Amino acid sequence: MRPFGYVSAPDLPTALGAVAAGARPLGGGTNLVDLMRDDVERPETLVDVTSLPLAGVDELPGGGLRIGALVRNSHLAADRRVRSHYPVLSQALLSGASGQLRNMATVGGNLLQRTRCPYFRDHAAACNKREPGTGCAALGGLHRGTAVLGTSEHCISAHPSDMAVALVALDAVVEAQSVRGTRRISLAELHRPPGETPHVETDLAADELITAVELPAVPVARTSLYRKVRDRASFAFALVSVAAALEVRDGDVVDVRLALGGVATTPWRANEAERLLLGAPATEESFRRALAAELAPAVARPQNAFKIEMVQRTAVATLSRLATEGGAA
Ligand code: SF4
Repeated sequence: MRPFGYVSAPDLPTALGAVAAGARPLGGGTNLVDLMRDDVERPETLVDVTSLPLAGVDELPGGGLRIGALVRNSHLAADRRVRSHYPVLSQALLSGASGQLRNMATVGGNLLQRTRCPYFRDHAAACNKREPGTGCAALGGLHRGTAVLGTSEHCISAHPSDMAVALVALDAVVEAQSVRGTRRISLAELHRPPGETPHVETDLAADELITAVELPAVPVARTSLYRKVRDRASFAFALVSVAAALEVRDGDVVDVRLALGGVATTPWRANEAERLLLGAPATEESFRRALAAELAPAVARPQNAFKIEMVQRTAVATLSRLATEGGAA
């Protein structure tokens, strides 16, 4: 690892000033230190934000929760209000990483974690995300874990977060602060698809620090589930995952939230499937048809084509379970 400067920020103005001056925020939970060890990230200065007062979960006046960026993943998963009002979020958090990592990982860090595409860390391989303009080794190499939605010819890596998949289904909003003020960004707009600039992964400006995530009141989320399919039961990224919430009345869908993970370059809100499901009979046939429409634009490659059927089956099974048994895990 290269030598770097270190600033311990006792308060938010100090942290924002340091970030504005070019320092990178070190809040725990990101994989920034791993990437520095591999010489992929080379910040000149790190600012330690872990002592900032951003570790609370507070109820919002109109319902919903304001979650500080430094709330630990394990703490949030165990929060009574999250477990009862947003079980999909609690389940997504508990499906991620390992117990030890969840005890350290923060909400802000989780949102900003980088891709686990192996070529991103391999300096011998071409990678447009690491070095723009060099190419994409995954296209002609190992790509079993990559995305089928939101890809471009410049990058096909899948977004790695479970938590963000649940948050995008719940219409979460990210609060970002800088010396210029506070900005609110819909989680659906936070992560950028690769397009021609895969190295630009979020809508955040260089001087902005994520300080909180707000969850609106989402009554349908009380009946919700997160399902993750992976190569082993713990400490593995999703091959596919599904965050779903469903309300059925008189046999028809009256409210639905659906997001997909492991299959897309960003946490993927299944807008087309939701549109087709609203008002439709809550049957396997409807669920299958909605997922087929959502996945119609998917671009399969030899090693990741299996994900299309796998995520369709997982989503249909998850929605069917919600329709018949509700959201108990
Ligand atoms: Fe790099 Fe993206 Fe290609 Fe992986 S898929 S090698 S991260 S450009």
